[in-house]
Formats: sequence, structure tokens, C-alpha cells
Amino acid sequence: MTWHIHHGTGYLLCFDVPFGHAKHYLGITIRPLPQRLREHEHGKGAKLTNFVRKAGISWTLTRTWEDCDRNKERQLKNNPGTRYCPRCKKERTMSEDPRYRDLMSQARANFTKSIAIANAKRENAASKSAGTRQWNQAVQATQQELRAARQQAAQAWADTHPAQTRARTLGRQTAGQQITTQADAGMPADRIGQVQQGISTHLLNEARTPEGWAFASEYDWTAETLVHELREMERQPGPELEAAG
Ligand SMILES: [Zn+2]
Repeated sequence: MTWHIHHGTGYLLCFDVPFGHAKHYLGITIRPLPQRLREHEHGKGAKLTNFVRKAGISWTLTRTWEDCDRNKERQLKNNPGTRYCPRCKKERTMSEDPRYRDLMSQARANFTKSIAIANAKRENAASKSAGTRQWNQAVQATQQELRAARQQAAQAWADTHPAQTRARTLGRQTAGQQITTQADAGMPADRIGQVQQGISTHLLNEARTPEGWAFASEYDWTAETLVHELREMERQPGPELEAAG
């Protein structure tokens, strides 16, 4: 099916903990992205995401690309997902701080332990359905704990790196204000995307300090997300069409 795709949306799923050596799934779809993401969640998206799901590992959509053609897809797939993943980039920066590194490795160890316990319980359950139910509950709680631990570690990092944190917030706010102004002025999403890409590239090229880099990367990521949302809104069929479909 992928052979017929000329232009689709590229998307990057970042696994909340690595699955073996795999940390990401990079996909391309011509259908609406939310629909495709639901398939992944239900184990019908791809072999890899199905295995990851069965291992109790959740993931986060960290990036999208508009208008992905075969060449772009090949280019993306030839590079490790980590290179494009804003979350991994951010975590790499934060991991330079030993405190963040320790908190995260502790969180990952706790996750592995809890999943192993959940697996053992499932095997010893009275029935298959009871086992599955217990396993689902335990896995959800474990994923929740991991998310909370990640947030705490990021907060601890933010508290000790106020300048970079401020730069990030500013990058996010600036991109948001700019794009809102352009959209309110009636500029089409494609045009906003072009303008923003130019600004992001300039900012990323000019960044010379950790703060500059924090501002630029947060600006870049925010702009990309907002432009994607604007395009989806433009593409959306009217309510009557939606009801018929
Ligand atoms: Zn990632």
C-alpha cells in the first residue's frame, strides 16, 4: 500500500522506554493521523509498535512532517529517529546533568521491574481474561508512574537550569504569538509553514549558547506543531460531511 503514497503525513513515535535497541517508529500515512495512531494503539499499526505495546511500553507522538513523498520518507528512514526527535534531543541535553540521568535510570529500572511483576501475575492468573485485565491495569499504572517520574526529573532539571528553561518558555510563546497573528491575518497554513521554516532555520543556525539553542529548538518545535494543527483544520470537512461519512 505504501507504494502508492505520493504525499502523506510523516510521523515519529518515541517509545517511553527503549524496546531493545529501538527507540522510535517512523511512519507515513495518507489517512488522517489520529486514525492511524489509533491503529497503532490497538496493535494494528505495524509489527514493531505491536511488539512494543505487548511489552507494556507506551509511546508519544513527538513529531510530524507535512507532505512527505517517497524521497523524503527514504531520507528520514535512512537516519536514526533520535536525530529528529525533539524529546530525545531535549533529554540528551538534560542528561548532561547527573541528577537528571540518575532519576531517569531509576525510573526506567522501576518500570522494568513493575512490568516483570505484571507478567508474572498474568501467568498465574485464574483465567486468561482475568490475567489480561489485571495486566492491563498494572501496565497502565506503571506507564503513569513513568510519565510522572519523567515530569519530576524534567522539573528538577528546570529548577536548576532557570536560564535555559526561561529561553524555552520564551521560544514557545514567541512562536505561538507569531503564528496566531499570521493566522488571524488570514494567511494560509502553507504560507505560514514556509515563513516559519525560514525563521526556524535561521534561529537554529545562529544559536551559539545553550540558551540560544533552547530558544531556537523550542521555537522550531512549537511552530511545526502549530502549523500542522492549522493544516489539519483547513483540511477538515464540514460537519455535514463528517456526519455522512
Ligand atoms: Zn525520541
